[in-house]
Amino acid sequence: MKKYMIAGVLLLSLTVTGCSTQQTSSRPTSNTSSIVINAINDNASGVQANAPVRSDRIVSENLTVSAAETLTVKNGETLYIQNGAELTVDGAVSCENGGAIKIQSGGSLLLNGKMTLNGSLELGGFLGIREKGEINGAGVLTVLNSFDDVNCEGTCLAKIKAPAPVEKDGVTYVGGVLIVNKKYPVPKDYGAELGLVIDDAYDTLLKMREDSGYAMPLVSGYRSYELQTELFEYYCEIDDIARVEMYSARPGHSEHQTGLAMDIGELSEDYVNTEEGAWLTDNCYKYGFIIRFPKGSEHKTGYDYEPWHIRWLGKSTAKLVYDSGLTLEEFLGVDPT
Ligand SMILES: [Zn+2]
Repeated sequence: MKKYMIAGVLLLSLTVTGCSTQQTSSRPTSNTSSIVINAINDNASGVQANAPVRSDRIVSENLTVSAAETLTVKNGETLYIQNGAELTVDGAVSCENGGAIKIQSGGSLLLNGKMTLNGSLELGGFLGIREKGEINGAGVLTVLNSFDDVNCEGTCLAKIKAPAPVEKDGVTYVGGVLIVNKKYPVPKDYGAELGLVIDDAYDTLLKMREDSGYAMPLVSGYRSYELQTELFEYYCEIDDIARVEMYSARPGHSEHQTGLAMDIGELSEDYVNTEEGAWLTDNCYKYGFIIRFPKGSEHKTGYDYEPWHIRWLGKSTAKLVYDSGLTLEEFLGVDPT
């Protein structure tokens, strides 16, 4: 197997420069299938000529790692994928511990093969994990801006670090994902214009029903602040408040007010023991939903297990959350309460 060693072994037409001043690349102009990873170094202050030079590698134009090849980013090295450049990996990428891949704004990495990530992958551009693409390893994928920058059709088993929460008009988003829980509310009038649920989520519910063959009745979709107030107050009349807090959100803190959540089937823990409920648990992520309050995660979400409550995230993000095995709070790195 041929290997792309970013350490400096020449690739087909890899340009490596090791001098103490930045060089312009000697890019081939006629052969569009050739591979160019230009090297620069950061030793601009020009200390001793024989000092170790950390050479960063730049992907500045479209490049493909073919099926038989492995691209290796070693300890201390950084591979930049620049604005306008697309790195397509049909073979493999190995980012070793201490190595870094930085997809810059406007740059893309399309993964058809496997990436072993033991270093870091920083996403400021676009990452497409195609159906057979897989990222594994002990490294961290850091999403700088938005989960919309990832399209995951494959598998990501590496740890994902989300951007910090951002508040906009009283609503909190993490990498573009709206978060509402006991800690993060939405404004009183939020969602007032919504019908049952947002269109994408509803259309997907219909598709899920059709594919599964189960009825999957929609028990509850959008709920207004006022309705949530009535519900919460009612439960407090018939139940101990500490108990109510585990199954009913306070007004302004319900995911149902966002139109992104639905209660499906039966509002009972036993729903998961029905064929329909089990199907929903096992398959909803394929359609863009997650079981928002998983079993055994009461202390992580602040709510009892609810096999009927699904949250719309869109296919890619739902897959990432599913692969992570984490609650949404853990995945986004936010507190539940
Ligand atoms: Zn619900």
